[in-house]
Amino acid sequence: MLPVSKNYSGYRSYEYLRAGVDYQDFELCREIDRVPAYAGLTLGDAQRARVERLLTESIVISLHEHPVVMPEDVTQLVDLIRTGRDRTGFEGLARSGMTAVFDNFMDGTSCVTSLAGWKWTDVIADLGLRFSDIAHQDYVVHATSVRDIRAAKENGRLALVAGLEAATMIENELDRIDILYGFGVRQMGIAYSEANGLGSGLKEDRDGGLTKFGQAAVERMNRLGMAIDISHSGDLTSMDVIRHSTVPVFITHAGSRTVWNSKRMKPDEVIKACAERGGVIGIEAAPHTTLSAAHPRHSLDSVMDHFTHLVDLVGIEHVAFGPDTLFGDHVALHEMFSGSMSTGDRRDNHPRVEYVDGLENPAECFWNIVGWLVARDYSDDEIRAVVGENVLRVLDQVWI
Ligand SMILES: [Zn+2]
Repeated sequence: MLPVSKNYSGYRSYEYLRAGVDYQDFELCREIDRVPAYAGLTLGDAQRARVERLLTESIVISLHEHPVVMPEDVTQLVDLIRTGRDRTGFEGLARSGMTAVFDNFMDGTSCVTSLAGWKWTDVIADLGLRFSDIAHQDYVVHATSVRDIRAAKENGRLALVAGLEAATMIENELDRIDILYGFGVRQMGIAYSEANGLGSGLKEDRDGGLTKFGQAAVERMNRLGMAIDISHSGDLTSMDVIRHSTVPVFITHAGSRTVWNSKRMKPDEVIKACAERGGVIGIEAAPHTTLSAAHPRHSLDSVMDHFTHLVDLVGIEHVAFGPDTLFGDHVALHEMFSGSMSTGDRRDNHPRVEYVDGLENPAECFWNIVGWLVARDYSDDEIRAVVGENVLRVLDQVWI
């Protein structure tokens, strides 16, 4: 983990309001040192200096996170979500080394009953409340263009890109995509676990592919310049989206089904098709997802088994990272929402972990990823490509 950015003033979420008076207060998790620091890397002084230099000099982009802070008592999470006031983890982000983070605003209040069924008004409230908070400080900037990301790098700020896990809340109204774009959303998934008007998600037994409305939605996202994510889409729906989109699409957070055979991972055929059209796959690290036979106890090593496989499969220029972490107990969160998710989790086949060692939260991810790459002598150019430049190349084509 890096030292705190000198540009972070210590701002805490919603501190311009009165906690407990203007909004409901919760005791929150620690953003730093909630779990022990990762001990799996043995770097010499020169290697540590190289990690720090690479993180400081490079444009570092996470394709998928939830950089918000959970309540200390996870049973209060639903209550916090109902308020719509997710707490951005400014302190942890200020030590992450990231230039840009794709923040997925999945917490519409109706996710209490179904993660796939966010209501339109909930999403608008979530976006407005978060951006109001972000507007009251100057370390994190809401980014809507590649220019904004480059400016954040130059100014020592962190660019936050708004994304949505799925397009379910647009129902069957194409213009809602424009409205989301107008509110600053720059990346959206097609379907989450359950099918919607666009296509099928991973939970479905049968995948109907991209619907006619889904085709129109993909076309609208192409015309608007909104990046498309197929991480949670079914295999057939994913292939249809790749073929139908006129620009590359992202798999922002997944891994390879060849490395770990679960539904939540992507078949190599989908990954190859995505890369052939110029797309990039961000490697996932949420608990019990990107496991491997060699490392069935989920840790940085399991996640990097997906990395090496994908580099062999499609080339390093199509690989990135979307660790999908948050500040708090992610395993407990999964337990609470297990009915709505599609982790394809084979509980009987691998040891359960309390957290993913090395990739537990947004503050530590890129230090450990770059450390792992430095320890194995990847070149500066290769490291810069996978931690940011590959994503920037796609964004240059997509965000018109
Ligand atoms: Zn997701």
